[in-house]
Amino acid sequence: MKKRKIILLTGASSGIGEATVRQLVQEGHHVIIGARRLAKLQRLQEELDNIDALQVDVIQAGDLQRMADFAQSTYGRIDVLINNAGIMPLSPLAARKVDEWRQTLDVNVHGVLNGIAAVLPVMEQQGGGQIINVASIGAHTVFPSSAVYCASKFAVRAISDGLRQETETIRVTVISPGVVQSELADHITDEGTKAAMEEFRRHALPADAIAKAIAWAIAQPDGVDVSEMIVRPTQSP
Ligand code: NDP
Repeated sequence: MKKRKIILLTGASSGIGEATVRQLVQEGHHVIIGARRLAKLQRLQEELDNIDALQVDVIQAGDLQRMADFAQSTYGRIDVLINNAGIMPLSPLAARKVDEWRQTLDVNVHGVLNGIAAVLPVMEQQGGGQIINVASIGAHTVFPSSAVYCASKFAVRAISDGLRQETETIRVTVISPGVVQSELADHITDEGTKAAMEEFRRHALPADAIAKAIAWAIAQPDGVDVSEMIVRPTQSP
């Protein structure tokens, strides 16, 4: 029988995160979900069993620490952390959207680091665990208007590989999706980029395709580290 795991998941209020919580509870796991929009998380909690919902802003290291402390004090362990929360307010550098650059790096890079910092001592002490970081195909290739977003996702891959090399007991997995249906592109404020993205995002995977990849990586035996998976639409260039 499959082991029921205690899983922390950020960015669970929409898109890939929401699909992932559905997949993981269906597979018998318990998921502690976090995002800023608590009402959305609470609706999921009303609909599904085996969920705890916490308001979490991943920029705040204390919010992730609170999530880890909750898991530890309530369930006595943390088996998996999924650093999924992310934003993608794309624009050309010449548009000089410096606040959006800072926010992208804060959420996509420091958010991941804050998650790692919160769970690492627990996983080291319990002698195992898994940290899954959601990167992107933009962690492999830079696209026009995507320099800062891609920089943030290249960083996620670098941090993940560094972490993998520094520990012998924690499995580290990077999931790099191609285009996926979600709210991710809704927050682009640069009009030209927004229009180009609509065309670029014409072929998109349903979010549950990524949820299934995440669940598969979790389901592997403790000695098997799925270091990275790229999952994209068949029609991708
Ligand atoms: P969505 O916009 O649908 O979901 C993003 C999630 O991140 C939301 O739940 C949002 O919740 C959460 N989030 C954003 N900022 C914060 C924050 N400061 N603190 C906590 N949570 C936050 O997009 P996706 O589901 O597509 O994105 C999930 C991940 O997948 C991201 O890391 C993204 O970069 C990556 N990805 C997505 C691709 C795609 O095509 N969709 C392709 C490649 C990678 P709330 O607003 O409630 O805080």
